Amino acid sequence: KSGVLMIGAGGVGGVAAHKVAAHPEVFGDLVLASRTREKCEAVAAQLPRPVTTAEVDAEHGPELVELIRRHRPSLVMNLALPYQDLAIMDACLQCGVDYLDTANYEPRDTAKFEYSWQWAYDEAFRKAGLMALLGSGFDPGVTSVFCMYLRKHYFDELHAIDIVDCNAGAHNQPFATNFNPEINIREVTAKGCYWENGQWRETDPLSVRRSFDLPEELGGMNIYLMYHEELESLVKHVPGLQRARFWMSFSDAYLKHLEVLQNVGMTRIDPVDYRGQQIVPLQFLKAVLPEPASLGPETRGKTCIGCIVSGIKDGEPRTCYIYNICDHQQCYREVRAQAISYTTGVPAMVGAKQMIEGTWRGEGVFNMEQFDPDPFMADLEKYGLPWTVQEGAEPLP
Ligand code: NDP
Repeated sequence: KSGVLMIGAGGVGGVAAHKVAAHPEVFGDLVLASRTREKCEAVAAQLPRPVTTAEVDAEHGPELVELIRRHRPSLVMNLALPYQDLAIMDACLQCGVDYLDTANYEPRDTAKFEYSWQWAYDEAFRKAGLMALLGSGFDPGVTSVFCMYLRKHYFDELHAIDIVDCNAGAHNQPFATNFNPEINIREVTAKGCYWENGQWRETDPLSVRRSFDLPEELGGMNIYLMYHEELESLVKHVPGLQRARFWMSFSDAYLKHLEVLQNVGMTRIDPVDYRGQQIVPLQFLKAVLPEPASLGPETRGKTCIGCIVSGIKDGEPRTCYIYNICDHQQCYREVRAQAISYTTGVPAMVGAKQMIEGTWRGEGVFNMEQFDPDPFMADLEKYGLPWTVQEGAEPLP
């Protein structure tokens, strides 16, 4: 077995394919497969060396197993959608191949974000002597590694984490999402939730807001409390955590459009009858919105994603802020994608590299918090996502 099979040729898959294809000495051959073969071919045409492309419906088990058996990769990188996670994990178990993804499994009919379904595969992966790495994107992904890095080098005890995901960039579309619209809108319209003093606390969607000054003169933005899946794995893997919250920036224009779409029922995920056909409004909406991969040329400005972490060092309270700033146009020049796809595709490649080289190794199902953050952090910097630690930062109120 050698090489990588990547499933999904959208915004994130495109970036990861660039990065993986550029390093055959690490990854070996790349097979890029997705539901629509033309999308794989369009990505392949931009790559520095030839790759194999294939069409696959990852939810169709036998088709996927046949593809894996044909190419015998050592790792399957799942960069398709959360709906396919379990089917791809099943196929990996059947074929004896390691697994990596960037988003937790979601059933189509409920917008429920939790690791339970995938954690339940731990024993099967363990028995098969295989490794699954969950959530190797930016958030989830790098955000957890950032926290573990701070815990290792800057704190004796870690008490509070605020993950802050800001996009200070803009595209020229009145309304578009910078990753898969269906997944994005399901996430944003869900109830907020955070961890405090040993319990989860729910908030109404987008009802808690703060203003946040971005570093390096990127200006101020409104950020909104949301639930995000890495909160679950951080709470599990960082005992003693008193509070963990996740915040994301949204422009007023985005929120205005979203409110109207919700009010008219276009974000519903239950099927409605339209002239004898069953249509899920959110899926139809996705079909008319711009594809995230198409936003690259026109997206300008920067993203800034990081963690504000408070705790104790040498008996004294302290707060540190660790972040990455990524420039949309610079990403486009390098891999023809905007920064949201870039900041997810690069950590997917960096996580895959740790697995293939054995710096992160284990049998079972793992989250990002369970490994030594240092080699991942070093590679992150090396492959395009440099980071900064600001000591003595202000805690978020
Ligand atoms: P896109 O919609 O741009 O791409 C998704 C790709 O998956 C498309 O190529 C699509 O093919 C393919 N696909 C969909 N269904 C199937 C299927 N049944 N079988 C095979 N291929 C399929 O999304 P993104 O690239 O923006 O996002 C990819 C993943 O990354 C998502 O899971 C998203 O949640 C996650 N993500 C994670 C982030 C993080 O920081 N951790 C941030 C951003 C995204 P087609 O176009 O033909 O439908």
